[in-house]
Amino acid sequence: MKCQIVSFDQKKKMSIAGVDPGCKILCVGHVCIDMISICTSYPEEDSQVGTTTKINRFLLEDFAKFDVNTDYAVVHEGCDCPASCVILSVATGSRTIIHANKNLPEVSVEDFDKIDLAAFKWIHFEGRNVSNVTKMIERIRQYNRSHQDCGCITISVEIEKAKPELESLIPLPDVLFVSKDYAMFKGYSSMAETVKEIQAQAIPGSLVICPWGEDGASASNSVGKLVHSPAFPPLHVVDTLGAGDTFNAATIFSLSNGHTPKESITFGCRIAGLKVGVTGWEPLRKMAKDGTLCPIVENSSERSGVVIKAT
Ligand code: ADP
Repeated sequence: MKCQIVSFDQKKKMSIAGVDPGCKILCVGHVCIDMISICTSYPEEDSQVGTTTKINRFLLEDFAKFDVNTDYAVVHEGCDCPASCVILSVATGSRTIIHANKNLPEVSVEDFDKIDLAAFKWIHFEGRNVSNVTKMIERIRQYNRSHQDCGCITISVEIEKAKPELESLIPLPDVLFVSKDYAMFKGYSSMAETVKEIQAQAIPGSLVICPWGEDGASASNSVGKLVHSPAFPPLHVVDTLGAGDTFNAATIFSLSNGHTPKESITFGCRIAGLKVGVTGWEPLRKMAKDGTLCPIVENSSERSGVVIKAT
């Protein structure tokens, strides 16, 4: 770069001659977008917005409100609850999540060993905490081997996040839920391709299920029979946060009650379709209480024998 020292008189002459003499002001710094949360009043300085005890109580009460039994929940009183800041798009219903976990540990194998497995017919794992989850699944397999007369526990895993280490969970469960995010991370471009590729790595006899947003969901068993359900979009999509979890829960509920994969993913899509049309889950809870959900359950076809064979 060439640098030239110009005197004040020279600058004046250059300016009169119509030449920009370099009189602009340069600012050096960085830019930032402010996202502002408005609250009715700001908490007193140094006071806590909620103590961990209060937050833990809120979470347990919220589970109870939705009839989720938390007898086996591990509560770490000294730890902060992980938190997410979620930006929902009103235009499309999409969500962007900023997540932080300060110090809450993952569920340990010792925590899992305290559970009386005899109480359960199905155990579902979120795909994370890979080495511990692998050991927990092995515990259930041991239990199944020694309790074949009383009925085996079906194991399902959801592979959701685009993380390479989750691949080692694929050959473990009886039922696998594979998200669109993970599928795209692996370079698969459709539900059909995803279930085919994942099936090749899963245990023989397992069921692979892949929900795909507004395109619905597909599933395939080891025989390679592909079944599909369309999505059931509401009039207006308002909140897709948790659509996948709702789909998984409804599908597991249906499979565990003896419905076929096609019936079950259809039921999952119906319930998830209802969910994306409302904010949060409170409206669904009300529908379940006042009986509005019942016709949907009944319309999802008849029960046709247990289809998942746990090993
Ligand atoms: P995730 O929330 O994990 O990203 P998906 O976006 O794949 O999960 O959605 C799970 C299920 O929710 C889909 O199979 C579909 O049945 C339903 N769903 C999601 N988005 C919509 C939508 N816009 N309209 C209708 N149903 C939807």
